[in-house]
Amino acid sequence: MISPEKIQRANELIKSSRKTAVFTGAGISVPCGIPPFRGPGGVWNRYDPGLLSIDRFRKSPEESWDAIREIFYPDNMVIKPSRSHEILAQMESKGFISTVITQNIDSLHSKAGSVNVLELHGNSSKAVCLTCTAVMDLTTKLLALRVPRCPHCSTGLLKPSFTFFGEPLDGRTLEDAFHQALQCDLMICIGSTGEVMPAAAVPAATSTSGGKIIEINPIRSNFTSSITDLHLQATSDEVLEVISSLLF
Ligand SMILES: [Zn+2]
Repeated sequence: MISPEKIQRANELIKSSRKTAVFTGAGISVPCGIPPFRGPGGVWNRYDPGLLSIDRFRKSPEESWDAIREIFYPDNMVIKPSRSHEILAQMESKGFISTVITQNIDSLHSKAGSVNVLELHGNSSKAVCLTCTAVMDLTTKLLALRVPRCPHCSTGLLKPSFTFFGEPLDGRTLEDAFHQALQCDLMICIGSTGEVMPAAAVPAATSTSGGKIIEINPIRSNFTSSITDLHLQATSDEVLEVISSLLF
């Protein structure tokens, strides 16, 4: 249970902010049935993260694709946005937040109706050809192949269009994220452990340039003792429900 004083403080920070951005990590999608990568119950307790390194993927795509399919595309997967995703989309449409910067690859911010979304690590709904660089929807037809091949050049290896270990982030998206981080005077960090670089440097940029950081996270993160000004220690669904009821 969060103290009413902390909620009040968060409300004041949001209302008085000229420009607010949101930064999200795996925690916001846990209620949707998507397991986090790190921490208890995380994907990396069950799978070797090396299977998602770009070098291993190129060398042994069968082995990598078997794991990718199980982790990201299980049969009958229907993933819906959480209450938090929906509230953030409403906050954007009502002018309380300008941009959502996410580490997640599940496209749930866009599905919930957020318009200005920067996906730092790409997303799982598209595929990219490693030979001809064509980008396409990762359809069930393509996923039915053990190793999906490019229908355009017919030989190229297809990779989900999210960032693998050993791959750089999309430069343009990262640049946009830092631009937003430096412009905003409030960043709301939700459900991120703050362990993955360079993504974790984005909220740090807001803090360094004098902006405030509200953190919504049931657990303490790398941000908590370094850049967080106000920690609301509960799930984002709980916190955002209360905050939004005060805002609109
Ligand atoms: Zn191709």
